[in-house]
Parts: sequence; structure tokens; C-alpha cells
Amino acid sequence: MDAISYQRAADIGSALSAAGQPGTMFIGGGTNLLDLMKGGVMRPVRLVDITHIDALDGITALPDGGLRLGALVRNSDAANHAWVRERYPLLSQALLSGASAQLRNMATVGGNLMQRTRCSYFYDPGFPQCNKRAPGSGCAAIDGMNRMHAILGASRQCIATNPSDMSVALAALDAVVRVTGPNGERTIPFAEFHRLPGDRPDLDTTLQAGELITSVDLPPPLFADHSKYLKVRDRASYAFALVSVAAALQMDGNTVKSARIALGGVAHKPWRANATEQALAGKSLDKSTLQTAAALAVQGAAPQRDNAFKIALAQRAIVRALQQAGGVA
Ligand SMILES: Cc1cc2nc3c(=O)[nH]c(=O)nc-3n(C[C@H](O)[C@H](O)[C@H](O)COP(=O)(O)OP(=O)(O)OC[C@H]3O[C@@H](n4cnc5c(N)ncnc54)[C@H](O)[C@@H]3O)c2cc1C
Ligand code: SF4
Repeated sequence: MDAISYQRAADIGSALSAAGQPGTMFIGGGTNLLDLMKGGVMRPVRLVDITHIDALDGITALPDGGLRLGALVRNSDAANHAWVRERYPLLSQALLSGASAQLRNMATVGGNLMQRTRCSYFYDPGFPQCNKRAPGSGCAAIDGMNRMHAILGASRQCIATNPSDMSVALAALDAVVRVTGPNGERTIPFAEFHRLPGDRPDLDTTLQAGELITSVDLPPPLFADHSKYLKVRDRASYAFALVSVAAALQMDGNTVKSARIALGGVAHKPWRANATEQALAGKSLDKSTLQTAAALAVQGAAPQRDNAFKIALAQRAIVRALQQAGGVA
């Protein structure tokens, strides 16, 4: 058994100084990190519990009309907050589609952003080949079971997907991640927070060593009247997405003024469908327009042995989500 030291941080300063020591990790709700530690996938030598830092908690209105979600806000509290439900129903739906009520009561905003892939080879150290867990060891999924894996943006090093539902909605909403660390505070646009695997699949995000997520900022709400989070999965609850779609529209009568679309379950990061968004601007939501636009989202898709079905599934899910967001379904 490995020895682990535990420290409860009272404030951000003490959390950051503790994080400067090698082998240290922050722990939020613990719903992902503890599982990974129990399985021997991650082996921190020191845990810094951040759940008693008041400055990381709470949901506050921003002067520009946006909303700040503290990194410690529990997923259930974020999903059920009146402002989130009214102004960002897309985010509320995405959160409520994830995990179970018990897990959402524990899971934090910061931890949800940082959760690791659900690739089963990553979770099982019995498989020596996993570049994400053991850089340079290979990728067991490429010639193995890869039904859940990526069809877009993958590399020969890793074909894993990001499992977070919340992150797909945040990508569509153009949220901003606020962090603080040894070099001070900085903000990271959501599109730049998660990474594609390239030749460093061990790195899921652009967070630097020792940096702490302090909050996620949502821009002023533009899509409250027309949005939909659609998650397609093997079971109706308690399952990760095969494909998910966060669709948000600004409508001018029957015409799309602007569209935001992000996909989950298809790539190593939430995947913004920029070409689809552009193809919808100025158009109505008739089925052939939607199908043409949805096809653009999967251009360049490179499926694995078991997951070519995701190409058609993603397109149908995009069409359905947009119809429901636009109230034409
Ligand atoms: C059975 C099961 C089913 C699930 N189903 C879904 C699902 O369908 N959809 C979905 O989206 N998720 C699902 N999840 C995952 C769940 O959402 C995550 O486990 C949870 O969001 C992680 O949050 P946490 O606070 O518990 O993180 P922790 O486990 O505490 O931490 C996770 C990681 O985040 C880091 N971290 C935490 N807070 C910070 C911070 N402020 N700054 C920097 N780093 C930080 C930790 O160091 C660690 O690396 C499921 C989990 C389980 C166990
Ligand atoms: S897909 Fe990524 S996480 Fe899964 S086995 Fe390959 S390298 Fe590891």
C-alpha cells in the first residue's frame, strides 16, 4: 500500500504552496480521483483537499450579465440554481444528464472539468499499453475494443474521448476558465482548456503544474430560449455519452441568427462544430438544411474498427438537437 499524506487547505494561498511539492494533487469531490487511486492508475503522494476554501465556492452574477460558477460548486447545485436553469438551461440539462444524483451531489465544477477519460484500458493497469497512463507504452485501444472512442481529432498515440457532459455545454456557451498558480492568475477560453492528444495524450488540458481552477465564467446569456443538450447513450441514465450535442440558437423569427454547436463523445475534447454553425446562419431550420449542416460536423472523421456508427449517429443527433432547440421537432 502506498503512503499518502492529506492536507486540508484553508485558503487559496496554502493550497498553491502545498501544490508546489512533487506528487501533489488537489482533491475536490473525489468521485474520479479516488477511483483512479484505488485502481492504481494515479498515485499521488499528497492530496490537498480544497473543499473548505470559501473563495472557491458560490454562484455570483457578473457585471456584464454573465455568471461565475465557483470551482467548488457541486454539480447538482449548479444544475438546480435558478439563474442557471433560467439563463443557461443548456448547462443545467448537460449537468443533469451526467452520472447519478449522488455523484452530482459530490462532484465539483473544477473536478468535472478535470475528470479523466473513460477508456477502459486507461482504467486497467493490467493492460501495459496506454500512452495516457504510461507515456510511450502504446495504445491498446487502437487494435482493441474501441466502440466508445474518438472519430475526430485523434492521433496514433491515443483515441480516447473526453467524458464530461458539462464541458460540452460550456464549450458551446464559450465559457472562460479562471485559474491561479505559481505565476499568478490567468483566464483560459474554453476552446483552449482541453487538448487534442497529439503526441502528448498524457496531458488532457492546458492547465500548468500547480495551477488551481478558481471558477468558470459564463458570458451573458444569449441562448436561453433556444437550446438543447441531447445525449445518446447505451442506457437512459448512469452511462457516458456515445455522442452528445449541445445546440444553442439565436433566432430571428424562423431564421437562425447565430448557432453554437458542440459535440461530446467524439473527440479528446469537446468538439465545436464551427462549419455547421456557419452553415446555419441566416437559414431556416428545415430538415434538408439541418442535414447538410450536420454533415459538415463530421467531415474528416476517422473511425476505428468498432465506432463508424458514430458518424451517422452524430449527424442525426445534431439534427434532432437543433430541431428541439428551435422548437420545430
Ligand atoms: C459511476 C460514474 C458515472 C459517471 N457518469 C458521468 C457522466 O455520465 N457524465 C459526466 O460528465 N461525468 C460522469 N461521471 C464523472 C463525474 O462527473 C466526475 O467524477 C466528477 O465530475 C469529478 O468531480 P470531483 O469534484 O469529484 O473531482 P475529483 O475526483 O475530486 O478530481 C478530479 C480531478 O480534478 C482535479 N481537480 C479537482 N478540482 C480542481 C480544481 N479546482 N483545480 C484543479 N484541479 C482540480 C483533481 O486533482 C483530479 O485530478 C461519472 C462518475 C462515476 C463514478
Ligand atoms: S485510447 Fe488513450 S487512454 Fe485509451 S488505451 Fe489508448 S492511449 Fe490509453
